[in-house]
Amino acid sequence: MTKAPQNTLTQRGNGEGVVKSKTHVWTNVKFDLDGKQVSALNMEWSVTRSAYGIVQTPIVVVRNGPGPTLLLMAGNHGDEFEGQIVLTKLIQTLVPEEIRGRLIILPAANLAAAIEGTRVSPLDAGNLNRSFPGDPTGTPTQRIAHYISDVLMPMSDAFFDLHSGGTSLVYLPYVHVDLPGRAEANAQAKSALEFINPPLAVAQPFEADDRIGAAQEIALKCGVLSFSGEFAGAASVSEEAIRVAQRSVFRLMAHLGIVELDPQWSTLNTTRWLFIDRGMYLFAPADGLFQPSKRLGDDVKAGALFGQVIFPEEPSRAPVDVCFPRDGLLGCIRPLGRIRRGDCLGHLFGYAR
Ligand SMILES: [Zn+2]
Repeated sequence: MTKAPQNTLTQRGNGEGVVKSKTHVWTNVKFDLDGKQVSALNMEWSVTRSAYGIVQTPIVVVRNGPGPTLLLMAGNHGDEFEGQIVLTKLIQTLVPEEIRGRLIILPAANLAAAIEGTRVSPLDAGNLNRSFPGDPTGTPTQRIAHYISDVLMPMSDAFFDLHSGGTSLVYLPYVHVDLPGRAEANAQAKSALEFINPPLAVAQPFEADDRIGAAQEIALKCGVLSFSGEFAGAASVSEEAIRVAQRSVFRLMAHLGIVELDPQWSTLNTTRWLFIDRGMYLFAPADGLFQPSKRLGDDVKAGALFGQVIFPEEPSRAPVDVCFPRDGLLGCIRPLGRIRRGDCLGHLFGYAR
């Protein structure tokens, strides 16, 4: 499944070759060089406090000869921390001679958001995972999206985007593969996810309507095997979710033939296969306080009470019940008590097998 390095960059600033992308992002990384390069993607960002300033997004390339290319990304949303921790540790421990092929790692893809600990960038309010395919002359978030779409994704065989629920949601750790649509490619994607062996797994087609501007759509267009994962959240850091994310990254690298499978990740767990659809999301029916009656990880039945909206600002107003629309696993909840009409309170997963 190895792709020829069709885009042997050649970015502005590294002094060689032809720029094949319309990107205005530059880097001194040489993507076909063996070894470990820890560097940055640079872009101009001219503001009052820094007229000739640049925004730098960390990028690491680890390569050892020909082989598959895996693009690993975290900090796509800045308030999702587990993936950022896992990839930063991976960068520090990887020995180039122990891999085959190439890893391209963005440990804090929307860096300004990651530093601020926010979902969107404080520079431009950009939500990176709603900004693809991006714009080479747009805001910083749009320019990074464009660079990933136009430069990094075409070089990659597989892509793993590590998320969590951020500030407003918390997830049971799970890994998702986007089914490309053709039978053989679907089977390959499913078997890769089987090999990753996460506790919870979702294998289904990408729904562009639900995630307009997501990186996963670009991955699929580029023929890249596209994984994402949700690893806890609630604006905190979960040791358990870090372990699941780490294990998933190492097992994916082993599946692709980039590393040998380390014995510490070789014990197999039971995977629960799930699906998600639009009808499984629960939204706040009114502004108020949400008092949940179920917990993250509960198996629930259609019609059962999820919780009540309480109105302290209108003490005589009766609570409003929120009930589950379907049977399922409550795999994602909102950890914040105060809600506004339309806030996502969580979602169910259906049982796929
Ligand atoms: Zn996210």
